[in-house]
Amino acid sequence: MAIILTEEQKELKALIREFMENEVIPFAQEYDERGEFPEEILKKAHEMGLGCMNIEEEFGGSGLNNETMAVLIEEMAYGEAGVSTSLTVSGLAYECIRDFGSQEQKKLIGEAIVAGKYISFALTEADSGSNAGAARCGYVADGDEYVINGSKAFITNASYADYHLVFATKDPALGVRGLSAFIVANDTPGVSRGKKENKMGLRLSNTSDLHFDNVRVPKDMLVGKEGLGFKMAMTSLDVGRILIGAAATGIAQRALDESVKYAKQRSPFGQPIATHQAVQFIIADMAIEIEAARLLTKNAAILKDQGMRISKEAAMAKSFASDVAMRATTDAVQILGGYGYSKEYPVEKLMRDAKVYQIFEGTNQIQRMVIAGAVLKE
Ligand SMILES: Cc1cc2nc3c(=O)[nH]c(=O)nc-3n(C[C@H](O)[C@H](O)[C@H](O)COP(=O)(O)OP(=O)(O)OC[C@H]3O[C@@H](n4cnc5c(N)ncnc54)[C@H](O)[C@@H]3O)c2cc1C
Repeated sequence: MAIILTEEQKELKALIREFMENEVIPFAQEYDERGEFPEEILKKAHEMGLGCMNIEEEFGGSGLNNETMAVLIEEMAYGEAGVSTSLTVSGLAYECIRDFGSQEQKKLIGEAIVAGKYISFALTEADSGSNAGAARCGYVADGDEYVINGSKAFITNASYADYHLVFATKDPALGVRGLSAFIVANDTPGVSRGKKENKMGLRLSNTSDLHFDNVRVPKDMLVGKEGLGFKMAMTSLDVGRILIGAAATGIAQRALDESVKYAKQRSPFGQPIATHQAVQFIIADMAIEIEAARLLTKNAAILKDQGMRISKEAAMAKSFASDVAMRATTDAVQILGGYGYSKEYPVEKLMRDAKVYQIFEGTNQIQRMVIAGAVLKE
């Protein structure tokens, strides 16, 4: 398997590079300092179709496969990781609705995303992150409706989403078998947005709590079947993890490119630091690992596009690429020395942004549990 891009992928990648260079990168530091969601930038990105890559063409989306999405998301995160995250999370929720939902649900949410609206993926709770089976946010059936009560934590885009894909439990004692997924319109009485996280990195993305107080949801907003919520969430997260691998690869590539640029012009001893073998070896290791991360990501994406089960491959891509991003960005700070530690250069932000890729959509410890489980079963 080689990394050869199709003409379409090259063109779309170039468009994203241009958009990021002109519309995002020059303003990223200011938004980062304010921890502000860049609504206007994201509006333009939506107009370019960057928020609806996996929505089928029949609903107005781009209908791209995972292999092409990985190429494009890598490029988006190369420019700015928070923007990339904000634009891709609705696609994660849609993944679940497309695979398990009704035609009406697909149309409702697919068209909403194409129109520039967000749907959050609300699984995590304050006391249940790694263990979704410990969820407490609950539901009961009541006539033609379900009634949801409880809270979700750390939900991307929650403050801006028009819809939420909410995973709630029928009975906490049922563990993972108790979970079901519901499409909840944000303007439903009883839905409220809680505190916004003040984060270390990824500060252009929004992360907030959600609260549900006797929220009544029509029965036809149940996605799939009752009790299948955990399976549905994990199936969607398999794809999410491929795309996390892609984004992390983009962050790492940017760290490498910034390091190379700086190493060629910084000459504390009269010759560029790029001529020192100690610096060259750091750069070489970054390049090796980034290529490997890209290949693991591409492998998982192609297998998924061919309809294979990819939990192990997606977990490998996610954990490896995010570990690579963390190492590469930390090394980039080192190569830039004092300037690497300063906000005058972009690498300290890359390092802060990279960290969360080892944490969200399943920490890298959880990914290793998935990988070991699969390997031991083989
Ligand atoms: C910026 C951001 C955006 C997010 N967006 C979303 C979102 O849109 N939707 C959503 O649902 N969630 C979201 N999350 C939540 C995220 O997925 C969780 O934070 C993550 O799954 C970890 O859960 P936790 O924070 O509860 O950590 P915990 O589960 O408490 O884990 C704490 C530590 O213990 C380790 N650990 C836990 N269990 C084990 C074990 N069995 N073996 C070994 N080590 C273990 C973990 O690896 C971690 O290092 C987001 C989080 C962040 C920070």
